[in-house]
Formats: sequence, structure tokens, C-alpha cells
Amino acid sequence: MRLLLTGFLFIASSARAQIDSVFFRRVFNEALENGQAYSRLGELCKTIGSRLSGSPQADKAVAWGKQMLSGYGFDSVYLQPVMVPRWERSKTEALSFTSAVFNTAIKGEKLQDFNCEAFEELPLKPSKNHKIPAVALGGSVGTSGKLQAGIVSVHSDAQLDSLGKAGVLKGKMVLLNRPFPETYLNTFRAYGACVGQRVNGASKATAFGAVAVLVRSMSNRCDLHAHTGVMIYDDKQSKIPAMAVATAVANLLDKLSQQDPNLRISMELGCQSMPDAPSANVVAETRGSNYPKSIITFGGHFDSWDQGEGAHDDGAGCMHAFEALRLLKSIGYQPRHTLRCVWWMNEENGLRGATEYAAVAGKNNEKHLAALESDRGGFTPRGFGVDSVFLPKVLKYKALLDAYSIGEIEKGGGGADIGPIRKVNPNAVLVGFIPDSQRYFDVHHSETDVFESVNKRELHLGAAAVAVMIAILDQELD
Ligand SMILES: [Zn+2]
Repeated sequence: MRLLLTGFLFIASSARAQIDSVFFRRVFNEALENGQAYSRLGELCKTIGSRLSGSPQADKAVAWGKQMLSGYGFDSVYLQPVMVPRWERSKTEALSFTSAVFNTAIKGEKLQDFNCEAFEELPLKPSKNHKIPAVALGGSVGTSGKLQAGIVSVHSDAQLDSLGKAGVLKGKMVLLNRPFPETYLNTFRAYGACVGQRVNGASKATAFGAVAVLVRSMSNRCDLHAHTGVMIYDDKQSKIPAMAVATAVANLLDKLSQQDPNLRISMELGCQSMPDAPSANVVAETRGSNYPKSIITFGGHFDSWDQGEGAHDDGAGCMHAFEALRLLKSIGYQPRHTLRCVWWMNEENGLRGATEYAAVAGKNNEKHLAALESDRGGFTPRGFGVDSVFLPKVLKYKALLDAYSIGEIEKGGGGADIGPIRKVNPNAVLVGFIPDSQRYFDVHHSETDVFESVNKRELHLGAAAVAVMIAILDQELD
């Protein structure tokens, strides 16, 4: 009897589930009929809102997350403590300009001259001091009092270098004004081409004697919303304040800077860096029935910038991961390996959560077979970026993935939060979730990244896509 029973269990537990059209249908039906991601994202965005690392809202979000996940009957839900950097915006945050020619400069201009349909919305009334939609970049130092200077607009690193060497930038504010290349189909590529000016621009400009930088917002859209994001100082250079300005304003200042030699910008910033603060990654898992010590991890980052509600970036990715775990559980899927949903803290300005996650994994001798990250928003899913070594296994499911419009499989997976796992498990397969990219930078890091900008069906389709990919990894990896 004992032998028979053991034999039966062995057969039952080693049998692999069929990841077929019936399986896909069940996952997608559950997501589309009973999906939880959208309502939970709404709770997060509307009861807590933005979640900048180390802020009281981030603390509240961690407590909410643990309690919410505990209600779904997963095998375990826990917090993984981590210290995070803390930078805080101040109410003192203002940018304005005075220009003798401003009114005449725009008089008679056609809107298309600014290549911006939103230009007519500019709340710039003829007056002495024109307020500019602008926000401090994350990590920026403040100003001591009001900082006033003339402005020079530059469109490339080469121009920054040549103007700097000519001494033109000394004592000036520099507008780093390289726009997204509109011809790039994937907007993340355009972001990659421009984001250097936001991250390192202040230290480059200060080397030439600049007193502050304004950075054109990282967006395809021409509008009046400023997009913040991380900036990093070179310790060898003096630190100058840095703000993002809305794209429409960057266009205007660029034009005015050429027409008005007396254009003056005034900046006042009270933001500051503070001591590290305690925080946590939030984890939920379903234990594997065959290999509980082998882990497939998937998630997004739980922190966000303090503009908007962090809905697409990256509340959506966190909800994709939680919902994928829930979907697989609710259709009765028995994972072979342990499935672990992680909401990493502090991706935006430090990556401390992901770094700590990998360090703990190393300390505990955990074996990560794979890691999947969703950090490109909650838009219609298209496919996945997959490590080349695992590509042939995914392509076996290409017809099924195509049937659900998620068959765009790119070579090369990864993401900021899952990268560190490779340090402890060099063979872990990395996968990046890829949704449609066209609208992401309309809202990224700005006041428009709110719950209302997320579409319920798109979010739920994304969660279902993540769930089927997790099941494929679970079945194909050993
Ligand atoms: Zn993000």
C-alpha cells in the first residue's frame, strides 16, 4: 500500500500541466470576467496615491499591500525590510521668466510654429512674471533663495560641449532641450536616446559654469505637464539645481532665448535629501509542488514618483504580478516551482529593494530559475523580451501567444529590478513584459499618471499575459 501510494504521488506530482489552448482560455476568461487588478489598482491610487521612497505614503502602501495580498489565501505573504534613500520635494518650487518681447514674440505666430497643439492652453497672461509648469528633478539640490539668470538652450551633447568651451554657459541656466526622436517606433528607444540629459545633464553643465539646468520633459507629447525623474550628480562637480519643464514650455523658451537677449529665468527650490528611511519589499508566493526551493519570481516596483498616482509606473506592473499569481491559483494550476510575486521598493531613485532582494536570495541560497518584470505600464500587451537561451522554448507557444495578440517575442529580457538576481543566479532566465508603448511617455513621471489613465481591459489582458508566461516558464524550466 505504501509503495503503491508513493508511486501514485510520484506520477501525480511529476506530471506536467498542458499549457494549451484550453489553459490559455481559462486564464484569459478568469482575468476578463473576474479580474481583480483594476479595482485593486484603484484602491491603491485613490486611497494612497503616489509612493515616493521613504515617504509616509510609501509606508502606508506597504501596509496596504501586505493586508490586501493576505486576503487571497496565497501560501505566504511577507515583507522584506530594506533601507531606502529619501528625497523630498518642498512647497517652495517655482520657476518663472520675464521677457520684454514675450507678448510681441508670440503675436502673429501660428500654433504649428511651436509644433504644439497644446500651446494655446499655456496659462501665460501678459504680466511681468510668467509662471512656468515645471517640477524639480528627483535628487536635485534646492536653491538658497531665488536664483536668477539668463538662459541658453542646447539641443545635443555636442552643442553643450562647444558652447561650454566657448564660455557661453558661464553664469547661465541651461535648457537641455533634445526632443524625443519621433521616428522611433518604440518610445522606450526614444526615451533611451534622451534620458541622459536628465540624469547627467546638471553635472555636465556645471563643468562649464552653469548655475542651474532646465530639462525638457521626457515625452513625445507637446503639452504643459512637467515630467520628473531621477538625476544623479557627479561627486567631482559642484551641485546645481535641476528642474524638468513641460515640452511646450521648452519650445517656447527655446524660441524666446533666440529672440530676447534680456530673457531672465527665476528659480526657487526647497527640495532636499534626507537620511535613509526604513521600508520594505512586499512578497506573496505559492509554493511549488515538485521543486519548492526553485523560484520563479515576477513583479514590478511599488515606489513611484510623487507626481500623479504612480498608476502606470508602476502600480500596473505590481497589479499584473499579483493578478497573475491569483489567476493561476483560481483556475487550480499546481505550479512545479515556487511562484513568487514581488513588489520591489525604490526602483526610481536607488534600486535598494531589488539589490536587497538579490542579497537575501544569495544569503538564503535560493535558486532563481527565472524572473519576469513588468515596468512599462498597463497598456495592451504585445509580447515579451526573452533571454536568447530560453527563446526556442517560448517559440513553441508562438501560435497560442499570437492567438491572444501577445506573440511579439523579442530577443533579450530584463529590467532594472530583476537584473541584480543574475548576480546570485547567473543562469536565471530574465523576461520583460512588453505592452504597447505609444502612450506611456504621455504620463510617465507626471501628474497625469493617475488611475483614470489606465484602461481596465488592457490591464487585465496584461495580467493574463503575465500569468501564461509564468506557467510556460514553470513547465519548461527545471
Ligand atoms: Zn517604473
